[in-house]
Amino acid sequence: MTDRELLASRVLEPGTGKAIELLRGQILRIEQIEGGQCVDFNCFNLHDYKEYMHTGRTRTLHGLHPGKGHFMWSAPPRERALIYILEDTAHCNDVLFPRCSAHLYESVYGFEAHTNCHDIQAEAQREYGLTPDDVHDSFNLFMHTGVDGGGKPWIGRQHSRPGDHIDLLAIEDVLAVPNVCGADIMRTSNFSLKPVRLSIFKATEEDLAVVPPLTKLPSQRTPADFRVKAIKVERELRRDASYTPSFTNVPIKISDLVVTLDDAENALLQQCKLRDLYGDDDGAALRDIVFSWWAERFIPGP
Ligand SMILES: [Zn+2]
Repeated sequence: MTDRELLASRVLEPGTGKAIELLRGQILRIEQIEGGQCVDFNCFNLHDYKEYMHTGRTRTLHGLHPGKGHFMWSAPPRERALIYILEDTAHCNDVLFPRCSAHLYESVYGFEAHTNCHDIQAEAQREYGLTPDDVHDSFNLFMHTGVDGGGKPWIGRQHSRPGDHIDLLAIEDVLAVPNVCGADIMRTSNFSLKPVRLSIFKATEEDLAVVPPLTKLPSQRTPADFRVKAIKVERELRRDASYTPSFTNVPIKISDLVVTLDDAENALLQQCKLRDLYGDDDGAALRDIVFSWWAERFIPGP
């Protein structure tokens, strides 16, 4: 995209991060200068910091290595798309590992002082009045990871090169916080710390046109739906003596739904049905098939 308007640019040095107001329709490009540097990232709703990017929901919808064509989602009960990944030239991202921390480097590696993503995120966010407790697990850009056959996660060397970049399009106004990952004693950034370049562009109509449509549902709740709307200030937890349970959807109502299949549909069901899994339970088979059909079509992204 050569016709994007460049709004700002800066170099992010090792040991640092930057909180950036990224407004809806703006693009944050995070670009390798030397190559091989992991960048941790999180973002908040600029108008309500309690809504933030949630690696768990993002991982559920897009897998362990989200990239081009995927969204970054906020945590329940908001569950909205905050960022759309327009470009990802290195194809090397991770939402499995948590951010690295001072305690990790001290307890595992013996370093009393070591640059780390949690402390950098905390310091960058302090510019907007947030505390170290407001740091959340990061979307790890340019981090090569996987899971072995025994379920154990691993970190591999990465192969990003100078100029490799990821373009993050703001779907909502966000406070975006990238930082240079401090992990130079593991494979995360190939055992050294390097600067990266940040650039902010105004998205073109062409950029906006590729974003898949998003559906707004009542279950994407806002503070207006909360029974407790105020943000708690005191640190101590004290029981509300007037509390009586009022769980959503309780009492739970379960009802049967009659599904009529024509002969062709019934033949298809029998064909798709896994008899060793469902036996003669056509209802269970149908539910599984319908779920797979739904998931393929309605979970956003390629
Ligand atoms: Zn890190």
